[in-house]
Amino acid sequence: MLQLSDIFGQDAAIDWIRKALAADHLPHGLIFAGPVGVGKATTAQALGALFLCENPKHNKWCGQCDSCRVMAAGNHPDFHVITKELIRYHDKTGKSKGIDLSIHVVRPELIEPAGRKANMGRGKVFVVEQADLMNPQAQNALLKTLEEPAGRTLIILLTDQPNALLQTIRSRSQVVRFAALDDELVKSELQKRGLNKSQATSAAKYAEGSLGVALKWHNEGVIDAANELVDQLSAIQSGKPATELPAWFKKAADAYAEKQLEHDELASKDQATREGLGLYLRIASQFFRERLGDENDSEELERRCAAIDAIVRAENYLDANVNIPLIFQQLAIALEMGFSPAASNRA
Ligand SMILES: [Zn+2]
Repeated sequence: MLQLSDIFGQDAAIDWIRKALAADHLPHGLIFAGPVGVGKATTAQALGALFLCENPKHNKWCGQCDSCRVMAAGNHPDFHVITKELIRYHDKTGKSKGIDLSIHVVRPELIEPAGRKANMGRGKVFVVEQADLMNPQAQNALLKTLEEPAGRTLIILLTDQPNALLQTIRSRSQVVRFAALDDELVKSELQKRGLNKSQATSAAKYAEGSLGVALKWHNEGVIDAANELVDQLSAIQSGKPATELPAWFKKAADAYAEKQLEHDELASKDQATREGLGLYLRIASQFFRERLGDENDSEELERRCAAIDAIVRAENYLDANVNIPLIFQQLAIALEMGFSPAASNRA
């Protein structure tokens, strides 16, 4: 469990929180807005521990009191974390696809306990992960609690899409911005966690400023797969055929889906496969985007832009549930035609 002062790379957010605490002006409702995996949940936990500590000093929890002990053990009765895993737990119909944080989750997990007395006396903290998954009905139901919770209460909504929250929610909360982390910082943190330099460099690059994503992807074999993809794209860019690409995407996305099912056996295989495909499409797009800046040949620049467009099309088709093999065949053809000299001569 970390102290606020241990959070790295988020100086603006932490400064704001420290000042609000010092002035005793911490609002009931906070929105931690920023990319996935940059420290929002860790900060919420550190702040929650401090908020509930019976003997805090200089913005640090004490680590000795009853509250700190149960917090460190991970079972504080007044520290409530609402995750999307609770969707299925509260789903009486068994039909939930696990997408919306509906009122059936938010009422028993947040609204009702927020209206009750704290178990240990110091107050209550609620952290909603992926708060943008709350549907409008659930968000509306939360408004009154945000305005006047019973007793000393802190509600922290975590999101990478603050605009998906209703204006009425945002206006009753203080938005605290979390930034993407600097690549060098992510790299050095990854090395501290045992990755070698080349692994850390690749992971930091693909995860675009998210330590959490970099670690997850490293553990799930995504980084190695992404390196393979980049090798293939380099070959295609130099005029090699793209015939292997559709099979590669299928294999990589299947492997990704398997890993997700290991964490959550009830997750949908199809959804996880699509998520994997989307992830590798993003990395492919990143590959060509990175290569726009350093290119002076206008024709080559145009070819790379066309490649990005082809990937965007594939992403849109994926969202629209178009047949997957078809999407990747079309993508392979578009990329190959775009970069192969023979193909462009024919045209
Ligand atoms: Zn304490």
